[in-house]
Amino acid sequence: LGQSLNNALRKLARASTVDEALVREVVRDIQRALLTSDVNVRLVLDLTKKIEKRALEEKPPAGVSKKEHIIKIVYEELTSFLGKEAKPIEIKEKPTILLTVGIQGSGKTTSVAKLARYFQKHGYKVGLVCSDTWRPGAYFQLKQLVEPYGIEVFGDPEEKDAVKLAKEGVEYFKKKGVDVIIVDSAGRHKEEKGLIEEMKQISNAINPHEVILVIDGTIGQQAYNQALAFKEATPIGSIIVTKLDGSAKGGGALSAVVATGAPIKFIGVGEKIDDLEPFDPKRFVSRLLGLGDIQGLLEKFEELSKETEFTEEDVEKFLRGKFNLKDMYAQLEAMRKMGPLQQILKMIPGMGYSIPDEVIKVSEERLKKFKVIMDSMTEEELENPEIINYSRIKRIARGSGTSTKDVKELLNQYKQMKKFFKGMDKRKLAKMAKKF
Ligand code: GDP
Ligand code: MG
Repeated sequence: LGQSLNNALRKLARASTVDEALVREVVRDIQRALLTSDVNVRLVLDLTKKIEKRALEEKPPAGVSKKEHIIKIVYEELTSFLGKEAKPIEIKEKPTILLTVGIQGSGKTTSVAKLARYFQKHGYKVGLVCSDTWRPGAYFQLKQLVEPYGIEVFGDPEEKDAVKLAKEGVEYFKKKGVDVIIVDSAGRHKEEKGLIEEMKQISNAINPHEVILVIDGTIGQQAYNQALAFKEATPIGSIIVTKLDGSAKGGGALSAVVATGAPIKFIGVGEKIDDLEPFDPKRFVSRLLGLGDIQGLLEKFEELSKETEFTEEDVEKFLRGKFNLKDMYAQLEAMRKMGPLQQILKMIPGMGYSIPDEVIKVSEERLKKFKVIMDSMTEEELENPEIINYSRIKRIARGSGTSTKDVKELLNQYKQMKKFFKGMDKRKLAKMAKKF
């Protein structure tokens, strides 16, 4: 979905003149992109009609080009199409009890682990209850997911009564004095009716503050019925849509849930424990369109700075293109830990359209070689790589047991990166740097 929406906007960005024919063509492209992503036809038509009308009728304000204006309209309409501001799950009372429900395979257990980690990162003590008496190994699955983080799981693989387990688990963690208790349920029913019955039984026993329905994003607009039945059954419900990474139908699932009026609080974007994001339509659409996403980037950096030696100063230097070789190395290393560079850099405003691979792709091996080379440089050279001429290159290559080609590669990477970040929008960079 992102790619095809991005292509539609690219067409717009490339055009020399923006006329009615072009607007209609772009709107048609957007329509096609949404339909391919399994968004409901009626919703697509409503949305694109609005976009077309505004694009043709509204005049851009002074200082804004017609193209920019239309991109903004597309962004605004898609954003409001995907709902309102993000509303996170609140921890008002201690303990706050959360119950997750959803059909088997929807990603419940994974999401419970992700949520636990999310709350832990935000400073809360979390206890997990496995009340899935249905799937063999359910308890061990959950335990394994959170064990590295020291999060405790209550469960009993021998017990057959799910309601009893849920109740005992909640009591156990109440006594322990945790801040958040999350109960993972079985979801053995494939149909809405059975699922909701199961939810009610456990709900009555543990009286949760919030019930979270986990929906598999790959089912597309079929998500509508599940979300609607759930919304009607409980006033304290919210939703997590999972598997939005690489799912062609993600847009369909999200828009279907939004159409029911049930709030989406998180989205699952991968199998790993950190692949959970608070759902924010603005952020989601920005990324879809390739417009970049300041907020997302900031959050990633924030998470990262907790785990590595990565100061605000570093980030600022980097973003201003004022880094030296040592800084670059630290950044590359840090970003490798943070996950795919593509994903991170996509979130930087203005970079979504094209990210030259040579700027950001650094293999582990290459990074190691960089380190060896840098060890043979003088302090002066590291601080000020511009002074490295050919005779220095030869000396460094000899000293590090590498070739002049290797040294040049490192310097090249540095130059490219520098050039690239320098070429980025200065105003946005300044704004972003200020936020740190
Ligand atoms: P449950 O039966 O509802 O508890 O579902 P599980 O948590 O066991 O997940 C079922 C499968 O979906 C597992 O293989 C998970 O790794 C996978 N899964 C869950 N969430 C995501 C996600 O956001 N992205 C991807 N790619 N896979 C996910
Ligand atoms: Mg499960």
